[in-house]
Amino acid sequence: MPTRRLSITVEDVEVEVILKAIKHAHIRVSPPHGTVHVSAPLGTTVGEVRSILLSRLGWIRTHQARFAASTTFVAPMMKTGELHYCWGQPYPLLVREVANRARAELRDGQLVLAVPAGSSKDERERLLDRWYRRQLQLAIPSVLAHWEPVVGVQSSQWGVRKMRTLWGSCNIKAARVWFNLDLAKKHPESLDYVVVHELTHLLEPSHGSRFAELVARAMPDWEGRHERMSQSIFDPGIWARR
Ligand SMILES: [Zn+2]
Repeated sequence: MPTRRLSITVEDVEVEVILKAIKHAHIRVSPPHGTVHVSAPLGTTVGEVRSILLSRLGWIRTHQARFAASTTFVAPMMKTGELHYCWGQPYPLLVREVANRARAELRDGQLVLAVPAGSSKDERERLLDRWYRRQLQLAIPSVLAHWEPVVGVQSSQWGVRKMRTLWGSCNIKAARVWFNLDLAKKHPESLDYVVVHELTHLLEPSHGSRFAELVARAMPDWEGRHERMSQSIFDPGIWARR
């Protein structure tokens, strides 16, 4: 089968092109480096390949960003110099040994963990988790107060939980809403989005068309927020399907 291979660059994206006896062009982004391959029918011009790629550039970048995030993620050791996130901003960790009680704080652009000598990684992690929980506990009341009248519903109670697969959850009968501890690492727009999502469930339990309409009415830009939240690092995985 006659084939032709070429490499082209579209904006900053390098693409391997193969022309062969197929009917339709298709694009593939491969792990782990997000390499882009295009297969196109023989006779397709470079200009045509370029315009196909330009029209799919957003999709390509989304996939590349996902691979980049998943391949560079290393389990934190809770050591000085590591980057940790709060409200979408990276802060280098500074672990200091102190004689008094352990505490965490943001100071001079650093996330300072003051811990007793010989503290374990788990102890430092728990300290940081408590600090993240505190950040959410400080932020959530005003976020709920803002969005409840917009969505048109009142929650009775809220809480923060460590959750592996959900950003938020709710108990519809009790009008109780729960938020994932990792939301403290995300840009604040993610917390807004999850608050609106869970509050909307108090009106509509399913993810059907009524749910989508209610979310879009309260928060017209929800889609962009959802996409940015899933792309950024510290994504605990699956988006809530409940
Ligand atoms: Zn849901």
